[in-house]
Amino acid sequence: MNTSEHPSSPLFSSPSGEGESYLARLNPEQRAAIETTDGPLLVLAGAGTGKTRVLTTRFAHILLTGRAKPWQILAVTFTNKAAREMRERISFILGEPAEGLWLGTFHALCARMLRRHAEYVGLTNSFTILDTDDQIRLLKQVMEPWRIDTKRWPAPGLMGVIQRWKDRGLTPERVTDAEESDFAEGHARAIYAAYQTRLRQLNACDFGDLMLHVTEILRTRADVLDQYHRLFRYILVDEYQDTNTVQYLWLRLLAKRNGFPSNICCVGDDDQSIYSWRGAEVENILRFEKDFPGAEIVRLERNYRSTQHILGVAAGLIAHNGERLGKTLRSGKEDASGEKVSVTGVWDSDAEARAVCDAAEKFRAQGHSLAEMAILVRAGFQTRAFEERLVQTGLPYRIVGGVRFYERAEIRDALAYMRAVHQPADDLAFERIINTPKRGVGPAALQKFHAAARSRTVPLAAGTQALLTEGGVKGKMADQVAKLIDVLATTRDILAREGHVVAVEHLLEESGYLEMWRNDRSPEAPGRLENLKELVRALADFGTLGEFLEHVALVMEHDENAGDAKLSLMTLHGAKGLEFDIVFLPGWEEGVFPSQRTLDEGGLKGLEEERRLAYVGITRARKHALIYHAGSRRIYANWQPSMPSRFLDELPDEHVNRHTEGGTQRRGLNLSDSVFESGQPLTSRRRQDPLLAEQNAVSFQLGDHVRHPRFGTGIIIGADRHHLEVVFESGDTKRLLSSFIEKL
Ligand code: ATP
Ligand code: MG
Repeated sequence: MNTSEHPSSPLFSSPSGEGESYLARLNPEQRAAIETTDGPLLVLAGAGTGKTRVLTTRFAHILLTGRAKPWQILAVTFTNKAAREMRERISFILGEPAEGLWLGTFHALCARMLRRHAEYVGLTNSFTILDTDDQIRLLKQVMEPWRIDTKRWPAPGLMGVIQRWKDRGLTPERVTDAEESDFAEGHARAIYAAYQTRLRQLNACDFGDLMLHVTEILRTRADVLDQYHRLFRYILVDEYQDTNTVQYLWLRLLAKRNGFPSNICCVGDDDQSIYSWRGAEVENILRFEKDFPGAEIVRLERNYRSTQHILGVAAGLIAHNGERLGKTLRSGKEDASGEKVSVTGVWDSDAEARAVCDAAEKFRAQGHSLAEMAILVRAGFQTRAFEERLVQTGLPYRIVGGVRFYERAEIRDALAYMRAVHQPADDLAFERIINTPKRGVGPAALQKFHAAARSRTVPLAAGTQALLTEGGVKGKMADQVAKLIDVLATTRDILAREGHVVAVEHLLEESGYLEMWRNDRSPEAPGRLENLKELVRALADFGTLGEFLEHVALVMEHDENAGDAKLSLMTLHGAKGLEFDIVFLPGWEEGVFPSQRTLDEGGLKGLEEERRLAYVGITRARKHALIYHAGSRRIYANWQPSMPSRFLDELPDEHVNRHTEGGTQRRGLNLSDSVFESGQPLTSRRRQDPLLAEQNAVSFQLGDHVRHPRFGTGIIIGADRHHLEVVFESGDTKRLLSSFIEKL
């Protein structure tokens, strides 16, 4: 069990021996990576070799050797959590709190820069950062005049196109004719331009704009670029394999200083590139030497994280990828033997959740902390079964991703109220709250308010107020809306006088929003009120309302406070860079992992990315990695049979223990007899020979729905030369001659 005071952090492995001896705790290659402080440096190395540790120590080394002041180092991490850990670690080495650092995710750093130079892109420094919901709503409004067939070209699809352009650093002006496709009937670029204009009018930007705007400013304003060139003497970048084009452009602009060496140090692992679907370009790594002539490349080969068996499984799996730089990975741990990686077949997804929770309980009983365990899933939908089971068994857990909380309707509403106070031009926020709780504002009234705002060229709230003052609308609805506007105004007064916590309490109470939930008789209402309380509690951690809103906009991704020991439940993507003693990897089935989407349209490239994701998953484990696959899974309302993932066949046998779970199957079916024969999944044979059995000119496949004259309908779960094994709706399993079976 990890005994450090910071469980699950890749940065803290031992609390002792810090301060001056920080270099002594590194191996010679790592030390070399830190002592070549000047000039461009790329650390290219496999999982768990200490890349992040090198980066952190390098940060401290630069400070301790007096090469730069804390604010003269730009350090980019992939998650806010990693940034926080790095900050703590640096403080630890320095022996004092590290303040005023330029350390954070690309987005957080860019948000900070953009607040300083917002006027260059037509915003003011109090701009709002929109969430995905708002983005889509806005885009829909913008698309209206084009009268596009939205069934064919739905807004989220077009949003994807716009985002990919932004990932590539393309403002609407930079999108070339060649980029134009028939997407949105050939209007994608024009809609993109209109969307950007609308954002500017709202004094808002979306997530992609943070990078795009700042990069555009650095490209076009030599004075601003020069200012940052003089500021940042050193640049440090973690997870470099997952940078996209605009991030790459941003880094290159900042690193290429006239007449000075480019003191940029990037660390990464091509085998862990898992964000190409979000525009990441692993080629950036391969290009490093060309971009920064004279760059040093350091390779690290000793893995300090995982046992021999875990490394063996990870290496065996990733070897199936064609396009690799190729790296050696050997264990650097003293006692690295450990147990084999287990692969368990279970009956269905409920049984899987049970099996994982039982195993977690067992580990806990052996003295492992829950904080040192994680369930890593491929897709969000998988978490539900685990959540239910965890709640049932009372095992404390956290959903890592934070998104969950901030995505809840009541939280979004409350945030919209706050935004409307903070940013009077935030029309989207005002629109969201104007009729929540119900104030009798129907679509027609809303139209009137919009028109009033347009004709006066003022924001929606101001337009509404003007119309009310002039008596343009009357009656109960008008009174209620007037009251809302009044509450927003008094909240601003209180904000100035008594601070944001009191102001927000006043806002949620006086607007009638809390009352709405108190009067709500639905079973969720009490939980929602709890969440709202939690939101106000969270506010108190921030200096101002603006800071809080910025935090929420940025921190939706993987964020969690340390707190008590809890088992973590998160996606594989969210687990990058983290480590745990025990890692559960459920859902290794075709169509789940690799995902159906990859199988349908990802091609070889997509499959290789899925395999890298599997590699990331396995290499998160220090001591135990446990893989699961279920024989059937509920997709929406239906149970669907599923086949073990092809990745399971690729795991080297000498490092793996394969078994099926006995005794917990439903309806008395003995799964080990049916799906497994002599310890080998039947389906692995099936892949070499796509037909399970071919008789009477009918071909049967695993998972086919069939009918038997006597036993009724069922699903094929196994086969041998002449027989099919079928589980019938009654729950019985029968081995039957295929000639009596009819395919449905
Ligand atoms: P990933 O690719 O998963 O991000 P990484 O290369 O960034 O991994 P780290 O997280 O920095 O690896 O390190 C992995 C683990 O090994 C950490 O617990 C770290 O503290 C430990 N470690 C790194 N270097 C050494 C060393 N020289 N001696 C002992 N432990 C080390
Ligand atoms: Mg790392």
